[in-house]
Amino acid sequence: MCIFCKIANKEIPSYTVYEDDNFLAFLDLSPITVGHTLVVPKKHYANLLELDEATAKEALNVARKVALLLKEKLNVSDFNIVNNCGENAGQSVHHFHIHVIPIYKKGDLEFKVQTKKLSDEDFKKLHTKIIK
Ligand code: AMP
Ligand code: ZN
Repeated sequence: MCIFCKIANKEIPSYTVYEDDNFLAFLDLSPITVGHTLVVPKKHYANLLELDEATAKEALNVARKVALLLKEKLNVSDFNIVNNCGENAGQSVHHFHIHVIPIYKKGDLEFKVQTKKLSDEDFKKLHTKIIK
């Protein structure tokens, strides 16, 4: 059984801050910022793409509720809501979860990216490939 299934089953402890019938939210033990919380369905799904539509909708709503809770209790108004989907995207626990990361000041969480330059032709080809 995976580590988040064990947490959902209360086989290992967690600092749970929110719970309902289908979801649990608990403090990340290696927080990026104070209050960094993980929103996890009690049922095991490997990643975002494995969710059914109802669970996907519910997940974002629970993340929203958790952000509102942290806003009230930790006096923070900004958040990064993150999902790492797949190994190459940085997912290390293969039980779907959403990171709710309070942002207290600019730079608390920085995505260090270099944007690509695509020509109009590149965009047209890409767009066609995706929509056709
Ligand atoms: P990800 O890299 O998106 O798969 O995120 C996994 C997260 O789970 C990391 O931020 C870890 O710090 C966190 N984590 C792993 N084990 C535990 C645990 N037992 N309790 C709380 N957080 C955990
Ligand atoms: Zn699991």
